[in-house]
Amino acid sequence: MALFRDYVIHTPEEIEKIRRAMQMTAQVRDQLVALVKPGMSTLQIDQLAGELIRATGGTSGFLNYHGFPGNICISLNDEVVHGIGVAHRIVQESDIVSIDIGVAYDGGVGDTAVTFGFGSLPRDTQRLLTATKEALMAGIAAAKKGNYIRDISRAVEKRAMADQLGIVREMVGHGVGVHLHEPPDVPNYVTPVRGPKLVPGMVLAIEPMLNLGSNRIKQDSDGWTIRTRDGSLSAHFEHSILITEQQPEILTWPKTM
Ligand code: MG
Repeated sequence: MALFRDYVIHTPEEIEKIRRAMQMTAQVRDQLVALVKPGMSTLQIDQLAGELIRATGGTSGFLNYHGFPGNICISLNDEVVHGIGVAHRIVQESDIVSIDIGVAYDGGVGDTAVTFGFGSLPRDTQRLLTATKEALMAGIAAAKKGNYIRDISRAVEKRAMADQLGIVREMVGHGVGVHLHEPPDVPNYVTPVRGPKLVPGMVLAIEPMLNLGSNRIKQDSDGWTIRTRDGSLSAHFEHSILITEQQPEILTWPKTM
């Protein structure tokens, strides 16, 4: 499979730059999660994200990427990924919000995503969020030197299937670091081939996208927004990690700067 033919081992110099951009990305993510409230439009959220990104000294890694028009991706409820901030879309108390962010700085770029709601959530919504986050963490735990990409996929899939969630197949995790998308792909489901062996210096964005209903998706007429076909809720959690000699280093882990 062509998607597994390539991978990137980053140099120590690159890793320092990547680590910096990842920390900036994590900082903006956590600031945004604290600031996003019902009543805001998704355009306001995008503009706020743009300000927070500029305050780090970096730039949006998403803006203009393949023509993407926003600073970040904001996807609500049944929207899986790639939602665009718009003035007429007002966040409701009952919504779940997925934000996906990448800050570019000095030759490095980050990638992280989180889904959250407001107040106490309906049981099934909470179950979706918990399972998706745990699927991400299971994938990270499998991202050890000597394992293969498919070991990450298997760990994510196992956790998702324990809650019978739909695993989005069309979009997958990926290498990241100097470019927003680098090889290899990191599927959230087991594939026929095991993919590259994990080697220190690889930087991977692991990002399960799980649905309460079926795994089937469709694209909106805006050419970007991906949503579930059956209208069920979707969650997205993503960290970028560095393969090391020991445990993976979560580059987008929250850290007080
Ligand atoms: Mg990503």
